[in-house]
Amino acid sequence: MRKRLIVSAAVGALALLVSVPASASAAQVGPGAAGIGDPYYPTAGNGGYDVSHYDIRLKYQPATDELEGTTTILATATQDLTRFNLDFVLKVKEVLVNGRTAKFAGTGEHELEITPARVIAKGSPITVVVRYADKPGEVERGGQSAWLRTPDGGVAANEPEGAAWWYPSNDHPTDKATFDVSVLVPDGTQVISNGTSTQSSRAGWTRYNYRQAKPQATYLATLAIGRFDIRTDTTPGGLPVLTAYSKDLGANAGAAQASVERTGELVDWLSGYFGAYPFGTVGGYVPNVPTGYALETQGQIFYSPAQFARGANTSVVVHELAHQWYGDSVSVQRWSDIWLNEGFARYSQWLWSEHENEGTAQELADYVYNLYPADDAFWTVKPGDPGADHQFAGAVYDRGAVAVQALRNAVGDETFFRILKGWPTERKYGNATIQDFQAYAERISGKPLGELLNTWLFTAAKPAAGSAGVVAPSPARSVAADVLPEPKSWKKIQETNTVHEHRD
Ligand SMILES: [Zn+2]
Repeated sequence: MRKRLIVSAAVGALALLVSVPASASAAQVGPGAAGIGDPYYPTAGNGGYDVSHYDIRLKYQPATDELEGTTTILATATQDLTRFNLDFVLKVKEVLVNGRTAKFAGTGEHELEITPARVIAKGSPITVVVRYADKPGEVERGGQSAWLRTPDGGVAANEPEGAAWWYPSNDHPTDKATFDVSVLVPDGTQVISNGTSTQSSRAGWTRYNYRQAKPQATYLATLAIGRFDIRTDTTPGGLPVLTAYSKDLGANAGAAQASVERTGELVDWLSGYFGAYPFGTVGGYVPNVPTGYALETQGQIFYSPAQFARGANTSVVVHELAHQWYGDSVSVQRWSDIWLNEGFARYSQWLWSEHENEGTAQELADYVYNLYPADDAFWTVKPGDPGADHQFAGAVYDRGAVAVQALRNAVGDETFFRILKGWPTERKYGNATIQDFQAYAERISGKPLGELLNTWLFTAAKPAAGSAGVVAPSPARSVAADVLPEPKSWKKIQETNTVHEHRD
């Protein structure tokens, strides 16, 4: 994604937050922290509890954007709690904690402060019920709503925040949970969310039930309500597939289907590189939204129609599917670890290019390296720590993928592909830092990789050609950028990250 709605931290505030020792909060008796401790987004997520399950029950009127909901959250206290926060922006009517009415107040940009009737003891279960009603398209933070209103309904798909516009949560990738999402809509309207689905109709209304049985980060939960053509099938490997297209995609309809209908084939192809697909369902949907980006929502990928405005694009499907391993199953520990998502998702597009004979990963790496002169701002973004304002900068993707190619050259193909497949298995359904990845890659390869990763991920300058760990020397390196041939796949790959700049 590409739309950050919540103001990020000033750099100075961060150091302060991360310097608080973990043991301080463990010994605490009092309110849970308003943030989970992410240096880029100090108020993202919350402290004091750990969520295991969300039960989200909604009723939606597409004509008026009226959303009524009851979300039940199952959690465990990680400290003695006099008060705790959820992240939520809609109007709340009532909150219950362990069956008793609780006091609540909206504070800050997205905090819902909840004061239970009784202190909650560390280690004990918490059941929170939040009842709410609002028009999410009219609720703005930073001048924008994360609820994408469409002519026939609305869509929630955003990163790093989007959940707060449709359900209250502990909104950070480190607190994963299972989900049940149940939505009542007028007959003739369809609902898309994550996981397996059932539906039933009665008295002019249809209820859609979705279940995500595998751990899921809050921003990877998605909801789309509108008029869709829904198709279901199974991949050759036996995985259930659900694809859905807004009925009013117009001229983009054919290209969207020609891309997203290849989901089953492509997920099986990627399994060859990354190992067994980690979730029980796979799919993609294309709602009629004016945005340009795609997002790796878990097992049910969100694509803006603009991704297909220049014809079919299987490269973006490969990118978002790669995230199911790199981003969704293995998620960032902090948002500064974004390279573990985007560097590898971009690299998967390079592998697809290689497979399609449209340019090898090495050729693409050479092309990126030569494209930007040393004084270009491209090289000032550190993919390993880009800062909140540059979290989704092009360098995180392209220089990030060059870093992956540099790793491949340093350890050799056999070891590299062992790492590429082993890592998602090693960290399945968990969270990890770049340092964790380094330790893993060093263990598998038996080589020290600190200098290589420091050069490619943590240095705000163009690495010197031929310096330690840099992409292996190739004839292309000595050729001036303007005569280096552009790989055939280059434009399609760039479309997957440039269309998001053209926002309506
Ligand atoms: Zn991505």
